[in-house]
Amino acid sequence: MFEHLKFRDPVLAKRIVEKIREVAPKSDVVKICHVCGTHEWTITHFGLRSLLPSNVEVIAGPGCPVCVTPASEIDEAVQLAQKGVAVTCFGDVLRVPSSEKSLLDAKAEGADIRVVYSVSDAVKMAEKEPAKEFAFFAIGFETTAPSTAIEVLKKPPKNLSFLVSHRLIPPAMELLLGIGDLHIDGFIAPGHVSTVIGLKAYEIFPKAYRMPTVVAGFEPLDVLFAVYMILKQLKEGVARLENEYVRAVNWEGNIKAQEVMQQAFEVVDGEWRGLGRLPSSAFKLKTQYVNFDACEKFGVHVKHGRDLLPGCQCHLVMIGKIKPTECPLFMKACTPQKPKGACMVSIEGTCRIWAKEAK
Ligand code: SF4
Repeated sequence: MFEHLKFRDPVLAKRIVEKIREVAPKSDVVKICHVCGTHEWTITHFGLRSLLPSNVEVIAGPGCPVCVTPASEIDEAVQLAQKGVAVTCFGDVLRVPSSEKSLLDAKAEGADIRVVYSVSDAVKMAEKEPAKEFAFFAIGFETTAPSTAIEVLKKPPKNLSFLVSHRLIPPAMELLLGIGDLHIDGFIAPGHVSTVIGLKAYEIFPKAYRMPTVVAGFEPLDVLFAVYMILKQLKEGVARLENEYVRAVNWEGNIKAQEVMQQAFEVVDGEWRGLGRLPSSAFKLKTQYVNFDACEKFGVHVKHGRDLLPGCQCHLVMIGKIKPTECPLFMKACTPQKPKGACMVSIEGTCRIWAKEAK
């Protein structure tokens, strides 16, 4: 029950920090990037940045699934609801700004929008009200995509369709490496996504990009140790793929989960909020499941949405180019109570984490 506490041991943390200081360069700046809202929460909540040498920076990439969902897809969900479809979605997507109105605004105007905790809740609702049309707004990375895929393959009730908005993590990591002035020196890869896609999914980073890459768990010692592992590789002049999270992640990942995703979805180019269209970064229902595609079923198609409100710097926060505190709206016009950007809405959004957790 208290198993996780050993990964929060302050004595061990002190020893890892000493090791970090031994291998860190004396003055050259090192930039380590993670791509996970939970990693950002751990780093900020436990004040891990303050333990690192001043020249070792940990930046946050696009690791919040709600934040990266483009306005165009939220517009589609709103339009579905306005057509009388009961839209089911996770709670933290409700307040995400969109081109005209959020799902919460649409709900306040009378649209039938219901919060669910999983896709199976949506299935149960559709079964209970067979005369009503339902759509499940399927958001998330490779961690949540298998549960959507399973329900599609199980042949859901005829009155349930899907707005598939799943995104894939490795293409987002590749995007970051293409941003010339970001200068990333190593990646901390997300533990939960990696339980599904396995270590093998990151092989490209050390091989093609010579980028030290370490899959890490979510406790403070996991993250500190991952930082140490990356710094050690840099000191040795090597680029390897390493696994800090051996208690949950293996090379192959969850084969069954990968199979159901392959059966239900095809990989397509996907729009990421404020970041544009990334090649092979999204899932779409396969042709044989097009009957379950909510946008096809109800003739809803939004090509372009307004991802950023005036002044919002979410696109720069999401790639780690600026810190939340560098956005002029941070904790002024944009607060957790009145968010102006997606990064301030979700519990996995970097701005919200900094607003709530920074000491
Ligand atoms: S403070 Fe608000 S507007 Fe600025 S980047 Fe963060 S979420 Fe976007």
